[in-house]
Amino acid sequence: MAQGPAECPDRLLAQLRDLAGAVRERHFDELSRDTVICVGPERCYRSPMIPPIDAVELAAKLISCPSVTPARGEVFDVLEAALGPLGFAVQRWVLGEAPDGPTENLVAIRGSGSPHFGFAGHLDVVPAGEGWSGNPFEARIVDGRLIGRGANDMKSAVAAFVAAVSRLPNSGGTISLLITGDEEGYATYGTPRIIDWLNDRQIRPDMILIGEPTSVDRLGDTVKIGRRGSVNMWIEVPGVQGHVAYPHRATNPLPPMARVVAALDAVHLDEGNDRFPPSNLEFTSVTTPTAASNVIPGSATAQLNIRFNNLQRGEDLVRMVEEVAAREASGATVRARISGEAFLTPPGQLFDVIVQSIEEEAGITPELSTSGGTSDGRFLIALCPVVDFGLPNATMHKLDESAAVDDIQALSRIYERIVTKVMAA
Ligand SMILES: [Zn+2]
Repeated sequence: MAQGPAECPDRLLAQLRDLAGAVRERHFDELSRDTVICVGPERCYRSPMIPPIDAVELAAKLISCPSVTPARGEVFDVLEAALGPLGFAVQRWVLGEAPDGPTENLVAIRGSGSPHFGFAGHLDVVPAGEGWSGNPFEARIVDGRLIGRGANDMKSAVAAFVAAVSRLPNSGGTISLLITGDEEGYATYGTPRIIDWLNDRQIRPDMILIGEPTSVDRLGDTVKIGRRGSVNMWIEVPGVQGHVAYPHRATNPLPPMARVVAALDAVHLDEGNDRFPPSNLEFTSVTTPTAASNVIPGSATAQLNIRFNNLQRGEDLVRMVEEVAAREASGATVRARISGEAFLTPPGQLFDVIVQSIEEEAGITPELSTSGGTSDGRFLIALCPVVDFGLPNATMHKLDESAAVDDIQALSRIYERIVTKVMAA
C-alpha cells in the first residue's frame, strides 16, 4: 500500500481510519485484526489487534447520549464508531417527521454468505420522568449497577452484543445489527423500514436475536419465543342528540351500545394452546360527546383491546367485532389499529443454541415464554425465526433504570457463545 519502510503502521492505520471516516458508507474490512498491512516493499505488518470492546464502557457511552424516542444522531454516532473498526459496513438513514419521526435506523453488516446471524435492538428510550437520583442521561455505576435511562431497555444489550463480536474473528458467515431509533414509539419509521431496506437488497438473516430485557429474576431465566398480538378498536354508534324530556325527537345511542358491549363481552375467542393463554377482549371505555344530565347524546364510542394468541389473526378479529356491532346497533362503525400479530418461533437451531449458551454461562435452563408486552419481533418474524433474550427487566422504563455490571458482562459472554455456535454449525 504505502511506500517507504519508515512508515509507522500505527500512523498508517490512523490515516486509513481518518480516510474511511470521511465517507458516509464505511468499510473497515482492511483494518480488521487479521488483515496484513504492507508498508514497504519488504516489510509487512499484521495490523495490531484492535482491543476488545468493554460492554459496560460502551453501554455507558450510549446512555450518555440522550435519545428519547424517536431517536437519531449522536447515539448512533457512538455505535457506528464502535462497529467500524470491527469490520462492519454501516448504513444509517433518517426518516419521517414529527410526531412519529424523524427516526434514525442503522444496519451494520460484517462478512458474507451463510449462516447469517442478525442481532436486533433499539437505541431510543422512553422519557426519563421526574425523580431520578442523578442525571438520567449521565451513566454512573453505583453498588455494581450501571444506572441511566436505557441501561436496561436496551442500550446495555446492544453494547453487550458489540463487545461479543469484538472478541470474535471475522471469518465465515455474516453478522448483522439491525438497530432502530423508534421501538418505544409507534415504530412508524423504525423496524418495518429496516425490513423494507433488507428486502430491497435481498438480504435475509437466517435467524434474529432481539436483545430486549426478557429475564425476570436472574439473567437467563426467561427467553421469549413469541408474543401475543394486540389490536385496539373503537366502535361508534350513531344517535340523534336531543333533550331528555323530548325523547321522541332524539335517538339514544347508549342502549344499542350496551347491547354491543354485552354481546362482545360474551364472545369466547379460544381456549389458548400449550404456548399461549386464551385470547382476551377487554373494553377500556365508553364515552359520549356530551356529559350533561339532560342531553341524549348524539353518538357513543366504545374502546376495546384484544390481546390474542397465534390461533387468531388481527383482521379476523376486526371483522368479528364489525359483525357483532352491525347486528346489535344499526349504523355502528368500527375503527381498528392492529399493533402486531401474534407469533411463535418454532423450535430449531436458534432456540437450541440460545438455551445451550445460557446453560453453559449462567447455569440455568431458561423458561420459553410468550408473555409480556410486544417487541419488534412482531415485524422481524416476517424475515426468519426470532427470539428475544436479554437482561433481567425489573427496572425497565422506571426511575433510576439500571443493570448489574456483572449481568451485562455475562450477557455479552452468552451472546458470544451464541454467535460462535451458530457460525460453527
Ligand atoms: Zn426495549
